[in-house]
Amino acid sequence: MRVKRWKTGAGSLVVAIDGPVASGKSSVGKAAAEALGLRFLDTGVMYRAVTWLALHRGVPVTDFLAIGSLAEGCQMDVAADAPGAAAIFIDGHQLGDALVADAVNRNVSAVSAVSAVRTALVQQQRAIAADGGIVMVGRDIGSVVLPCATVKLYIDASAEERARRRFQQMQGSSASTNYEQILGDTLRRDELDMGRADSPLMVADGAITIKTDGISLEETIAVVVAAINAGKSVNPPGRALRK
Ligand code: C5P
Repeated sequence: MRVKRWKTGAGSLVVAIDGPVASGKSSVGKAAAEALGLRFLDTGVMYRAVTWLALHRGVPVTDFLAIGSLAEGCQMDVAADAPGAAAIFIDGHQLGDALVADAVNRNVSAVSAVSAVRTALVQQQRAIAADGGIVMVGRDIGSVVLPCATVKLYIDASAEERARRRFQQMQGSSASTNYEQILGDTLRRDELDMGRADSPLMVADGAITIKTDGISLEETIAVVVAAINAGKSVNPPGRALRK
C-alpha cells in the first residue's frame, strides 16, 4: 500500500483517542483538532475504504488472504488540507458517503479483524503521525499505533446512550430502523471490536477515560481540549514518537 504523505504538522503534539462505536470520539476529536490547530485522522475511514474496495471488486470478506493482499496492494491517499479536515482516495476513487453505506457498515468489522489489513494500515498511520501535530482517532491508537502518544484519551458512553444518539441522528433520514435494532447492532459491534484477537478495543495504558453519558457534545469537546492542554505540560511533545 502506498499512502500520500501529509503536510508537516504543527509541532510534535500527538493525541490518541479511542472508544467504541458511536461514543462521539470522531466528532469530539475533529472539533478538538480544529480548536488546537492540529491535523485530524479518523482511522476508521481507512478500514472502511479497504472494505469498500473489497465490495467494489467482489472480493469475499471471508477470504482473509485475498483481503490482506488487497490492503497491501492498493493505493490509499489520505490528505488533510486544513486542521480537522481530511479526504480519502483508494485506487483513484474518492470516497465520501460510500464509506458509511450499509454494506460497508455490515462488513467493516470482518475486514478490520484481518491481521494483514491491520499491519498495512498501522504502518501508514504511524507514517502519517510521524510529523506530529495530529489528533488520531480509532480503536487501537493508544494501545498499538501510537503507544507513546503525548496524550491518550478513551471516550466512552453506555451502549444505551450510544444507541439513543444514533437513533436520533437517523430520525428524518430514509433509513428504516428502530431503537432496539440500533442497540443490538451497537452491542454486536462492541463484541466484535473488543473480542477480536488482533488489537482489540481496550483502554490503553495511561489513557484517561471520559464518560459522556448525559454530557453534551460541546461540554465533551471542552473537557477533551482541557485534557489535551493539561497532558501537554505533563508529557511534553517530542517524547510522543520515540519508541
Ligand atoms: O470508527 P468507525 O465505526 O468508522 O470504524 C469502522 C470499523 O473499523 C470499526 O468497527 C472497527 O472494527 C474498525 N477500526 C479498527 N481500528 C481502528 C479504527 C476502526 O479496527 N483504529
